[in-house]
Amino acid sequence: MQRTVAVGIQCPYCGETVEISVDCSVEHQRYIEDCQVCCRPMDITVAIDGDGEPSVAVSRDDDV
Ligand SMILES: [Zn+2]
Repeated sequence: MQRTVAVGIQCPYCGETVEISVDCSVEHQRYIEDCQVCCRPMDITVAIDGDGEPSVAVSRDDDV
């Protein structure tokens, strides 16, 4: 069953807090999502812990 939760993250470019929807049915996922404020691509990494709660890390797409 799919379960999505809204998670607030801080944009690594402009520092604004934006909300993303995380699909908790996928244990590990990584994708690019454009910031809703500055439209730059955030590199989102999501890990779902044992309680089904998402842990979200965000970094700049241009980091190497
Ligand atoms: Zn931004």
